[in-house]
Amino acid sequence: MNVGFDLDGVLYRWHQSLYTYLVVHENLPLSYESFWSDTNTESGYLSRQPEFYSWTRMPDLVSNMMPKRNHVDFLNRIAKKHTIYYLTHRPEEVRFSTKTWLEKSKFPFVENLVFPESQNKDYEIRKYEIDLYVDDRDRIVRALDKLTNVYLVKQPWNTTGREGLKCISDVLELESLEDLT
Ligand SMILES: [Mg+2]
Repeated sequence: MNVGFDLDGVLYRWHQSLYTYLVVHENLPLSYESFWSDTNTESGYLSRQPEFYSWTRMPDLVSNMMPKRNHVDFLNRIAKKHTIYYLTHRPEEVRFSTKTWLEKSKFPFVENLVFPESQNKDYEIRKYEIDLYVDDRDRIVRALDKLTNVYLVKQPWNTTGREGLKCISDVLELESLEDLT
């Protein structure tokens, strides 16, 4: 089976990294939950959209968080039976930092790092024949729902878009839901 994972919000805590950066550099007065809430349109991330362009291009933010050790172990267990793909909408500018982080973290199949061009990753899901996919963006999970077996990782930024989607709190839950290992 081909198993695909998104990075930010699934295997990498980019949102924590950016949050910490904002607390340190601009004394952001909000809690993590409040800043990343999809219902906080006044002062949360939704009010900061113009800045996302530069934030997503900061190499430090895509590499200064450690992976969860149990995620690395889990993916290496899956990789004995299945092929892993990483599908990230990160910009081209951080490709090198992203690949280096995956290698240093000892994730398997780092050669299968894909930077999809299609908005909902649907072209790449078909191209690489992904049978099972995990993402943290409800828009993407909804768009892929008829193409593959897809799960949404629950996060503060997708509280209003989960209805009808298969949700998990952590990728580790796949071990009991799917016959992966
Ligand atoms: Mg993501």
